[in-house]
Parts: sequence; structure tokens; C-alpha cells
Amino acid sequence: MDSEFKPLGIGKEVMKAIDEMGWKIPTPIQVESIPYGMEGRDLLAQAQTGTGKTGAFGSIILEKTDSRQKLPSALILAPTRELAIQVSDELTNLSKHSGHVCLPVYGGTDIEKQFKALKKGVDIIIGTPGRVKDHLNRGTLNLSNVSIAVLDEADRMLDMGFIEDIEDILKKTPKSRQTLLYSATMPEGVKKLAYDYMNNPKEITVSRDEMVLDLTKQYYIPVGRRNKMWALCRVIDAETPKAIIFCHTKRMVDMLVEKLQGLKYKAEAIHGDMTQSKREKVMQQFKKGQIDLLVATDVAARGLDIDDVTYVINYDIPEHPDVYVHRIGRTGRAGREGIAISFVTSEENYYLRSIIAYTGMEIEEMAPPKAEGKETIRKVVDYDQISDIFGMVLFEINIGEADGLKKNELVEMLIKELRVKDISIGKVEISKESATVEVHKDFANRVAKDLPRMKYNGKGLKTKPIQR
Ligand code: AMP
Repeated sequence: MDSEFKPLGIGKEVMKAIDEMGWKIPTPIQVESIPYGMEGRDLLAQAQTGTGKTGAFGSIILEKTDSRQKLPSALILAPTRELAIQVSDELTNLSKHSGHVCLPVYGGTDIEKQFKALKKGVDIIIGTPGRVKDHLNRGTLNLSNVSIAVLDEADRMLDMGFIEDIEDILKKTPKSRQTLLYSATMPEGVKKLAYDYMNNPKEITVSRDEMVLDLTKQYYIPVGRRNKMWALCRVIDAETPKAIIFCHTKRMVDMLVEKLQGLKYKAEAIHGDMTQSKREKVMQQFKKGQIDLLVATDVAARGLDIDDVTYVINYDIPEHPDVYVHRIGRTGRAGREGIAISFVTSEENYYLRSIIAYTGMEIEEMAPPKAEGKETIRKVVDYDQISDIFGMVLFEINIGEADGLKKNELVEMLIKELRVKDISIGKVEISKESATVEVHKDFANRVAKDLPRMKYNGKGLKTKPIQR
């Protein structure tokens, strides 16, 4: 079977490497950008880490430049040493059979070592602007043979104040070069850079939905409805995240915000019933960090564009997988790692399973983080979680045959003293020292709270629900 990479203009050697790396089909950005790149066009691509952009510009470079040249034919500028190393590693894999030599160049390492490597001959330089400029100043790097320049994560490089370095470096490369620019966002500065240093670039946009690698780690916490608040406090106390918390309804949003504010958390609501100006005000506060927790409905969260949200918490797990995908898309943006946690009651398990089946994503089970010191909220017994499929909760009581207890006596006590409806009482069993009784969850609280206030033949009663 012919590979789907072939029509993009990728030759045998790179194809072999791609095959060995296990890539089966090209990603959207690879399909859209590689053919233009092969034609020699400049590219202005809006895409973030995780879309396969390194494979895109890597393939273009490897096809369009010869290996083992005296001077570098390609230069890639990246904002951080981590990214430079990551890109260099991927290019090293891709060039396994073409023989191109790649060298990452970044600050904090022995410059003499890099100098030696450069002397031996390097085809592709992957560097941070600061260190590349250092080499140019020292005369240890010659860019006069560069035919392709790549600006990776251009927006971040500008944020980090690299604009002058980038311009100085580009000026040291031939004007005839091909320039490829990748950026997660397109602020004015990036557009100006493109306008000043690129020649009629082909613009390409890849959305987040087309990511190969999702930077959001996904978890779920099995928890009863009555303990969701407890689990939420555990999560936010342990991590102090900047989080968006999703609820099903506006009422739930308002209720949750009230509870959170009551516990002194910096939380605000955002939902469709609020005026536009109020919503904008809340959004600004959240962006500035004056609020840590934004509690939202799905409608209100549509189109929210906030970069540094570390957590998305599904207080209520959504019923539809596409809503889930949209929600978790609020974190892990612009190449930053994010965490998504969903609270799942036993009744909601079905939704969790359908999300996993539909999206093919991995969602790992986790326990709520441990509390340090005093708990903000105490965990309560959640009868929904410990009842059987008919809603019956099993209780143990500290009286038995030895105390003279009979089955009908116990049933009568529950009906007369605790006003439990007879159809809400299930199996009753009496053993020597104790008894067990099934009671519907609607009456479970009465059994748990009121029974211990009573006595049987002078003996104080004790009861506890049994986990099944
Ligand atoms: P990037 O956006 O370049 O950081 O790439 C994200 C991840 O996707 C990297 O781990 C790549 O190795 C991987 N990748 C890139 N292209 C493909 C592809 N066509 N098929 C599968 N994985 C890919």
C-alpha cells in the first residue's frame, strides 16, 4: 500500500524514517503545508505544539536541502532550550536515512563543545535566539548558506523579548531564503515580522481539534453526588489551580459559587443570565488572577480564550462527548500542560464510558488528593454511592438474638418510631449479637441519625451503613 505521505512530495529516505517512527497518516498541518513548502513558498502557519508542525517543516527541510554540507543549510529558531532539544530530537529521527546532521544550540551548555561540532559540519541548526546570536558575534557560526529559516513558536519568542535577536539573525541569512513561521497565536508583532521578513507567505491555520498530541492530562474521580464539594475542596486546596469548573445548570453554578465564596475561595460565576458587561468584568478578573475559580455553564464558556488555565474541573460530567472535548480544550493551550478532572458518580459512569469510547482518549482514575491539616469540608456518607441498584442501603445494628430481638420487632420499630415506609424496608437478618436491615436510601438518614438516639431493653443503639 502506498503511503499517504508520498503525494506530499516526500522522498524515499524521509519516508523510511517516517515509517520507522510509526506515523501512519499525515496530520492536517502536514497535508496543508508540506506541498507549498516543497514548492518553495514562504509559510505563515497558525499552529501549536501537538499538531505535528515539526514533522511538517522537518520534512520540507530534509527534502529541499542536501546533507553533509560544509555550512548549515537550515536554521530553526525556537524560544526555549527544551523546545530546541525536542525539535532537534525529532529532526534527528527524521534524518536517520538522509544523513543530515542536526545540532541544538542553546544557552547553559558548553559553548566550546558546540563550537567543535559546528567546525565538523552541521546541516541543520536548531537554536534559541540568544545563543545563536552569541555564535554569530563570536564568528563561530556562518549562516551565508542557509536556504530555509524556520521561526518556531514565534509568539512566544516575541513575548520573551527576542525580536531584535531574531531580526539580527535573519539579516545574516541570504535574502533569497525560504522562511517558515509557526505561531500558536497571531498578534501584531508576529504579523509585522512576517510582513518584514517573508515573501507573499501562504497562510495556514490548524485548529486545536486537529491536535495529535494532547497536552492535557485527563483524570476522573469516582465520587457520590453529596461528596462532590468535598472532592472539589481537596483538589483546589492541594493544587491551588487557576481553574474553570463546569456545572450542568445555571442554578448549580450559582449554588456552587455561593458555597465556594462562603469558604473564602476566590470564585465567580459566568453564565448566560449575566449581562455582557458583568461577564466581561468577571473574565478580566480571572485573566488578571484576581479570581482563581471560574464556575461556568457550557454556553457561557464557548469561545473563552484564556491561555493559562491549569485545570478544567467537570463538577458535572457532560452527557455528550463533544461537549467534554470542548470543555477540556480550555486548558493545555498554547503548548502548556493542563489537567482535566471529572467527578463521576456511579450513575454518571455511563457518560464517562461513552466519552472514552467516542474520543479514544485516555482518562485515568485518581483518588482525591490528601488533605494537609484540617479539612475544609468533611466527607459525608453518600447513600447514592453505597446503595444497590434498587436504592437499598444495608445497615448493621448492635442488637441481636442475645438481646431478645425478633425480626418483626425491628421492622415495627423502623415503621413506628422512625416512620420508615414499609415498602422501603428490605431484607432483615438477625444474628446472635447483631442485626442487618436494608432500608431505601430516602430513609437512610433517619436510620443513621435517629436510631442511635433510641434504646432497646435499656441498651443504647448503634448503627452503621455497610459498603457493598
Ligand atoms: P509537534 O506538533 O511537532 O510537537 O508534534 C506532536 C507529536 O506528534 C510529536 O510527538 C510527533 O512525533 C507526533 N507526530 C507528528 N506527525 C505525526 C504523524 N503524522 N503521525 C503520528 N504522530 C505524529
